[in-house]
Formats: sequence, structure tokens, C-alpha cells
Amino acid sequence: MKETLFTKGDKASAEYFVGEVWIKVVVSPTDLFDCVVNDVVFAPGARTNWHTHPGGQILICTDGLGYYQEKGKSIQLLNKGDVVKILPGLEHWHGATPNGEFTHIAINPSTTKGGVNWMEKVTDEEYNK
Ligand code: MN
Repeated sequence: MKETLFTKGDKASAEYFVGEVWIKVVVSPTDLFDCVVNDVVFAPGARTNWHTHPGGQILICTDGLGYYQEKGKSIQLLNKGDVVKILPGLEHWHGATPNGEFTHIAINPSTTKGGVNWMEKVTDEEYNK
């Protein structure tokens, strides 16, 4: 079995994700930092809904191949070691490619500005573009 940095966390809510996604809280908002850090594992083809972060977000890709898309732009391929800086309020989604699991660490700074604003699902048509 492949060695991973963290064990898989809890299954994410089907309300906000398509496919199977596991979220492990690495740094919780109850700690003394205004920041949440999650290790997120996406099954092949799994992805977030469209969403924004009031405090922005930093993704650090740690395993597999992923997708990232900002509204109005084309999908970007994410490789292990890639870092994505997402500005506050920018509509986007992220997830796995169809052929394998994808893992990233998600850093959500300035959480006191508010939690994630979840929007519509990423359709198969959008995902397959
Ligand atoms: Mn995000």
C-alpha cells in the first residue's frame, strides 16, 4: 500500500462535493490561529462544488493529478508539489482527474471572515471540458 502523509479523514458531505472526498482536519479553527488546515483526498473524478472563500485559500498538492478551475478560465492540471493561491471571493472548484486519487492540503486563512460559500455542482460537462 502507498505511503501517505495523513490517513484519510471523514467523508465529506455530498451536498458540497461530487464523488467521494475525505477531509482530515490537520489544524482546527479552535487552535490559536485564525486558520484551518485540511488534508483532502478526492476519489477519481471527485470534485468540490463551485465555491468561494472569504479569506482566500492556498492549496498544496501532495499526491496524484488534480484539476483546478477559476470561473471563466480553462481547467488547470495540478501536479504533486504545485501550490495554488486563491484570492478571497474568487469563484472556483478543485478535484481529482478521472484516472486516479488526488490529495491536497487546503489552507484556509482568515477564517473569522467567514466559512466557505458553497454554490452549484460542477457538472460533468464542465468537468470534461
Ligand atoms: Mn477552494
